[in-house]
Amino acid sequence: MADSSSTQPIDLRELVLVGAGHSHVQVLRSFAMNPPERTRVTLIVDLPVAVYSGMVPGLVAGEYRAQDLEIDAVPLARLAGARVVLAPAIAFDPIAKTVTPAGRPPIPYDLASVDIGSTVFGLELPGIAEHALPTRPIGRFVARVAEVEAAARAAAGPFRVLVVGGGAGGVELAATFRARLAPLAKAGLEVRLLHTGERLLATYPSGLSRRVESALGRRGIAILAGRRVRAAEPGVAVLDDGERLPFDALVWASGATAHPLLPSSSLACDERGFALVRSTLQARDHDDVFAAGDCATLIDFPTTPKAGVYAVRQGPVLTANLRARLAGEPLRRYRPQRDFLTLLNLGDGTAIGSKWGASFEGAWVMRWKDWIDRRFMARFQVLQDDGAPGPAREQMGEMATGEGMEMVCGGCAAKLGQEALDRTLARLPPAPPAPEVVLGMGEADDVVAYELPGGDTLVASVDFFRAFTDDPFLVGRVAAANSISDLEAKAVAPRWAQALVALPLAAGEREAEQTLFQVLAGARATFDSLGVRLLGGHTSRAVDLQVGFAVQGVTAPGGRLLRRRGEIAVGDVLVLTRPLGTGVLFHADMAARARGPWLAAALAGLAASNAPAAAIARELGAGAATDITGFGLGGHLASMLAGSGLAARLRLAALPALAGAVELLARGERSTFHGENAKLRKALAIPRELATEPRLELLFDPQTAGGLLFAIAAERAPGALSRLATAGCSQACVIGELVPARPDGAVAEILPA
Ligand SMILES: Cc1cc2nc3c(=O)[nH]c(=O)nc-3n(C[C@H](O)[C@H](O)[C@H](O)COP(=O)(O)OP(=O)(O)OC[C@H]3O[C@@H](n4cnc5c(N)ncnc54)[C@H](O)[C@@H]3O)c2cc1C
Repeated sequence: MADSSSTQPIDLRELVLVGAGHSHVQVLRSFAMNPPERTRVTLIVDLPVAVYSGMVPGLVAGEYRAQDLEIDAVPLARLAGARVVLAPAIAFDPIAKTVTPAGRPPIPYDLASVDIGSTVFGLELPGIAEHALPTRPIGRFVARVAEVEAAARAAAGPFRVLVVGGGAGGVELAATFRARLAPLAKAGLEVRLLHTGERLLATYPSGLSRRVESALGRRGIAILAGRRVRAAEPGVAVLDDGERLPFDALVWASGATAHPLLPSSSLACDERGFALVRSTLQARDHDDVFAAGDCATLIDFPTTPKAGVYAVRQGPVLTANLRARLAGEPLRRYRPQRDFLTLLNLGDGTAIGSKWGASFEGAWVMRWKDWIDRRFMARFQVLQDDGAPGPAREQMGEMATGEGMEMVCGGCAAKLGQEALDRTLARLPPAPPAPEVVLGMGEADDVVAYELPGGDTLVASVDFFRAFTDDPFLVGRVAAANSISDLEAKAVAPRWAQALVALPLAAGEREAEQTLFQVLAGARATFDSLGVRLLGGHTSRAVDLQVGFAVQGVTAPGGRLLRRRGEIAVGDVLVLTRPLGTGVLFHADMAARARGPWLAAALAGLAASNAPAAAIARELGAGAATDITGFGLGGHLASMLAGSGLAARLRLAALPALAGAVELLARGERSTFHGENAKLRKALAIPRELATEPRLELLFDPQTAGGLLFAIAAERAPGALSRLATAGCSQACVIGELVPARPDGAVAEILPA
């Protein structure tokens, strides 16, 4: 590749945070209020939301909704100016100084911090992973609580819950499952708590253990002490002594064991696989690696329990030490608290607590616990369920409110408007006649095509966009999918590609090289999976990262191209293969206004190929097809219908939307290019009562790597939809039909449903 310019910018320091555990969310919150200088922060996390374990028993009891326990790491990270890589870290190399997320190349760091929690002990025992409900990963546990409730409701006989684990988690879950299920289990409920020790809560004061055992006994919960499960079979737990205990739900709260990431690295770990850290929270042998929370063991205090309270207290020390390390200043030391307030939720509006050896219980204890937990959560809740600002935004002050963070969108939302493009092209002199041109300037389409001497047709396209997110691998991956989508929409298999990459002017040489590598690795991930060869390319420098690809494919003589303006007729129906909303979601994400699960769902579909959908459309005789990109559904539909003598009828309720898109549109969120696309409004027949419907705005939302829109005879639509569903387009649907041109000249009439 040729490099056409040079600059002298400075490389940023790379700080990589792995996991969004209790310590890291505090680091992110602090960085949101006061970002470290000359540092790029990257958060690598397997799931967009982290679950606050302290409230999990309350969820089991039915006191909280799942959302009440969730810390949405994505908007928090955005406020902190951090990149977010939504993938589990699968390798950590402190020698090469890299972290590898699943499905991606390694990400280099100057400074790394790991807060990935722990997993539960005993999952490797026969049948446990299959038949038990483990408390880790905690998000999956939370998602499965409703399954236990459904089973209890449906049970014909007494419903039997067996909780394994005599620590705080096991105690709270036994009590809270009892509270939740007792009113539902028609034929009765039996809860048993099994543990290996002599008393429950063996690491806590004995007074607390006695109080807890008595409280559970009064609630009819049987405690099986000194017993060990060695295996599980369907509906039966097999104990060490051969006894078989029947169960309908086996809750596995057996204590913490190490997550495999760190023991499989060359970091020094204790005999259980937890990373050994000094009191500065630095890894024993690596000054540039920090670890906190359950995944770390303090060399000076090795018996510190694996509990969230310690991870929480480590947060401020970790934050200060990461800053100090970046600034070359002395580090603080963490000393675990000698005692901490324990509050155990019993699920019936009461809780048991202990501190400094004394224990207490009652409804007031539960109210206290609830106040502490909600206050903790409010510090991190950047967004509410519907995307409205959460309490953390106000608490963090002006620095981190994200207000005024009006960014110019990238992706397919960064382009010249259709009208300006048409005017520009009209000013050019007509192209000289060329009989071999099949698709050229004369026919507005996304590809060019011309016949080769042997009779084959070469079909080519070029696409180029500003990065729509700050994750270069993802940008490369999506830019590649987007560029080949134009050919796929014609049912032409793309075969070769050339890259065009403009690297940010502000990036130093090391950063530029790393960015280019990540972009091309992302592109290769898309291209290689589809048999497209990346043959070469060109680099340049621009204000922002810009990535595009020129792609080519060939059709055999006689091969039919699925055109944007094809053979369409009154009565044909319009099929859209993917939900809309990437424009508004990516715009909101840049300003920390998109919820992490919304973003994760949008990103998950983005690199998918349109080829299977186009093949189905062509095989079933679709008359015209186009992929939906920057001009949005409305613009692409208008272009499909131009000159056809037809109009469309669109059913608003049928328009498929990505999670969060309509909520954001309702809140007034708009992608930068939305206004330009919305000029089409005047060419639509919109009943007054629908004019302010947020869903209507989906028509103008610019799509990055959107789905396929095609017109097909109505009787073939059911077959097309069922084949599309099998091919992975589960949200493909009919959004309207074609009608004769309207007297008012409108491109489309909007119907409610
Ligand atoms: C039911 C239950 C109730 C509990 N109640 C309490 C309580 O009341 N008080 C208390 O002190 N402790 C409690 N605990 C213990 C507490 O959950 C843990 O000690 C605490 O969560 C540890 O925090 P952490 O920061 O180490 O990690 P976590 O809070 O577990 O966070 C780990 C983070 O890393 C992410 N992650 C995991 N794997 C990867 C990967 N490969 N790559 C990238 N990211 C990854 C996760 O998604 C998450 O964001 C409870 C535990 C359970 C199971």
